[in-house]
Amino acid sequence: MKTVIVGSGPAGVYSAIMLARNSKVTLIDESEKLGGTCILYGCMPSKAMLHATHIIYSARSLGKELNFTQDEIIKLAKDTVNRLSKGVEYTLSSYDVEVIHGKAELSDGTIKVGNQSIDSNGIIVATGTVKPQVENTIASDDIPYLSQKISSAVIIGGGAGGVEYGDLLSEWGVDLSIVERGPTLLPNSDPDLSNAVTTTFKKKGVKLYLNKNVKKIEKGIVILDDETKITGDVVIFSFGRKPNVAGFEALSRGGPIKVDKTMYTGMGKIYAAGDVTGTYTAHEAIHEGIVASLNLLGIEKEFVSDFVPKVIYAKPEIATIGRMSGNSVKVNYAELGRAIAEKNTSGFLKLFYDGGRINGAVIYGEHAEDIANLISLIISQNLSMQAVFDNVFAHPSYMEILWEALGRALGYFRGK
Ligand SMILES: Cc1cc2nc3c(=O)[nH]c(=O)nc-3n(C[C@H](O)[C@H](O)[C@H](O)COP(=O)(O)OP(=O)(O)OC[C@H]3O[C@@H](n4cnc5c(N)ncnc54)[C@H](O)[C@@H]3O)c2cc1C
Repeated sequence: MKTVIVGSGPAGVYSAIMLARNSKVTLIDESEKLGGTCILYGCMPSKAMLHATHIIYSARSLGKELNFTQDEIIKLAKDTVNRLSKGVEYTLSSYDVEVIHGKAELSDGTIKVGNQSIDSNGIIVATGTVKPQVENTIASDDIPYLSQKISSAVIIGGGAGGVEYGDLLSEWGVDLSIVERGPTLLPNSDPDLSNAVTTTFKKKGVKLYLNKNVKKIEKGIVILDDETKITGDVVIFSFGRKPNVAGFEALSRGGPIKVDKTMYTGMGKIYAAGDVTGTYTAHEAIHEGIVASLNLLGIEKEFVSDFVPKVIYAKPEIATIGRMSGNSVKVNYAELGRAIAEKNTSGFLKLFYDGGRINGAVIYGEHAEDIANLISLIISQNLSMQAVFDNVFAHPSYMEILWEALGRALGYFRGK
């Protein structure tokens, strides 16, 4: 069997690893460096930079002031990109995946790179997204590669991207403004979360322009509908990524590539996975790539999207999981021993449940991602709240905030 994958982001790489068990695999990427948006521009360089700013935040909570220069922060990002991109090269070669650098396109059901046609028994399209191209702005992808020194910035959009990068820039000391059309940051989230995050950003000294629309963007100047002018060394457009379907128009009609639960496009032996199908996290991309590969190998598998944790790596951390409906119980981090000991008392866990089962949760605080991962497992395995409460949680752990919430929901503990 011979298969072809287009894209070396998380979807493409995990597709290649799974297919390599039973197929000769060729992976094509137009970029010189492997790793896709996640490694080269997104998840990974941002986490390297955020690690430094989280240390600044934690030191401040203990009464110490720490600083990193812009050059130091950007070097952390670039070192991470280089190491992880090399890691992808090594991994693919260890699975005997042939890598071709070039722009691929779909022509009559076959993948072509320049004049070369690549015959195969199956194709996975994992071409990701393209960043927003708005005049006089940069995208969050550009921040790990900033050569210009910045002391002020304007972010347009207070959604997940605006909040994560807003947290990063404000902690590294940039004088920051955020413009958001809605009444709060994260306007489409649970109201307790949106309000708490908005309050935190105000306390961090970020200037928020809420309920505001942008009329015009000039170089370093954002003009709002009410003629307010906001200036910054850079203007960052934090939303508006588009599926990268250039060369694959036959599969998309402009929007994301439509797939069924097996990631099948409905055409020939062509599957698609990752951001190009309209999901926008690396972990969905990974699992979609795995599902597409298994189906190409003849092993039936569906992608289940009901329990995907969504995380924003700010300080405090933000995570959501499952459905925010049903009964709810809220526990504040200020009630948790470990959080008090480490002065991480900001935030809360809000647990939604019905009929003895967890529906979902909003977590705003330390280790939110880990708690969301655990809740994802609890929901996907259909564990009862009682069974989870009966499980012994380490003390003093941040995870105990979930145990405390379960104890209250089950009527054993009183809320404080
Ligand atoms: C700033 C930022 C931060 C992020 N942080 C996180 C995070 O913390 N957690 C998270 O889960 N997600 C995060 N994401 C999203 C994450 O990066 C994406 O969900 C993920 O990269 C999608 O993987 P993918 O494999 O679908 O596509 P991509 O990673 O975009 O890879 C697509 C690849 O296809 C190649 N390609 C495209 N077209 C062609 C063609 N015609 N021929 C050959 N090659 C082609 C591209 O060069 C690219 O390498 C972030 C994104 C950004 C922008």
